[in-house]
Amino acid sequence: MRGFSKRTPVEEVVDWIDGCLSPLASESVLLAQSAGRVLLDDIVASIDVPSFDRAAMDGYAVRGEETVGASDYNRLPFRLIGESMPGAAFDGTVEVGTTVRIMTGAPVPAGANAVVPAEYASSSGDTVEITSAFPPQKHIGKRGEDVKQGTTLLRSGRRLRAQDVGLMASIGVAEVPVIRCPRIRLLITGNELIEPGQPRGEFEIFESNSYVLRSLTQRDGGIVESIRGLNDDRDAIHSAMTDDGADVIIVSGGSSVGAEDHAPSIVAEHGELAIHGVAMRPSSPTGMGKIADSIIFLLPGNPVSCLCAYDFFTGRAIRGLGGRSLSWPYPKQQLTLSGKIASAIGRVDYCRVSISEDGVHPISLSGASILSSTTRADGFVVVPADSEGFAAGTSIDVWLYDRD
Ligand code: AMP
Ligand code: MG
Repeated sequence: MRGFSKRTPVEEVVDWIDGCLSPLASESVLLAQSAGRVLLDDIVASIDVPSFDRAAMDGYAVRGEETVGASDYNRLPFRLIGESMPGAAFDGTVEVGTTVRIMTGAPVPAGANAVVPAEYASSSGDTVEITSAFPPQKHIGKRGEDVKQGTTLLRSGRRLRAQDVGLMASIGVAEVPVIRCPRIRLLITGNELIEPGQPRGEFEIFESNSYVLRSLTQRDGGIVESIRGLNDDRDAIHSAMTDDGADVIIVSGGSSVGAEDHAPSIVAEHGELAIHGVAMRPSSPTGMGKIADSIIFLLPGNPVSCLCAYDFFTGRAIRGLGGRSLSWPYPKQQLTLSGKIASAIGRVDYCRVSISEDGVHPISLSGASILSSTTRADGFVVVPADSEGFAAGTSIDVWLYDRD
């Protein structure tokens, strides 16, 4: 065994990742499945919405000019000649002196140009008396007032919101061109690992990284192709890394330079091991590279290192391949540090912190195996490589694990 001969600075690692991020191919999904997906092509309106002038109130469709002077003391009579309902238009014309009963959303009949709300009208038999003036265009939703045919409504690259899906429905789109989700394979290595729910031998440990990684990859828009538990067995790891079908392969455990750490040399032999060893704490025994079309991430087995390396590197790659924003999906807040955080020049530190009324308390800088430090924390602080840390009282950026 020997140590890492060099550790790559975090920014160089990020540059390498960004260089691998050619967007994935497109696929077409049903409209109902499109929320949250990344749009591949612009969506251009093929129709006006509404595609006809429609009533914005329940009441009476009239020629607005004819209501001039109407009041409670000057009730103007109109002859009721029919009705227009949503989906069932009146097919005649509103001539001088006539009106049509109309419901919100119903087509405005030919000849009419205003709607008198029901509260300013009273009907008896086929006579309707109007008690207030409504000029032309009043209470009418004009054709195309929502969407004009030919307008670009949504641009390529947009992550679709619920209301975007609604807008596409309103112009009749049934299938949506989106960027394919990256397929992620998780290889969970370690002879000592067993599944929660299984009987545990004295020196076995329950495996936790797959649960963290599954959830994070899904958060970042990946589809988990498979999760495979593997012994520290070179052949088994090799064949799981060289099977096709995954855009990203994440190997948990065995990423360092120990006798049982097979994955780095497998990548070097069968592809390109671009990075092995990163100047950060935790997660320094992280590696990455490529085999055929798959980007490979070798993440340390220690649970905090695994989480941290995922967040710094793998998450970025998965979001990027799927066309999402590369930036962290964590809200950031500027807060005052209540205790000091010490780091070393040349290394990025990921420090778990909790937040209270007196400010930000560092929980842990070291302790890559202490997963509970990440559940006690409200978020984390990143100490950049050119900093020796922060003194108490410094105002710093805190990344929050939770949005609320
Ligand atoms: P490794 O990176 O394989 O040398 O593992 C480092 C430490 O992390 C060891 O104590 C392992 O038992 C532990 N570890 C490895 N993989 C996992 C896992 N999937 N879940 C929880 N702990 C793990
Ligand atoms: Mg191991």
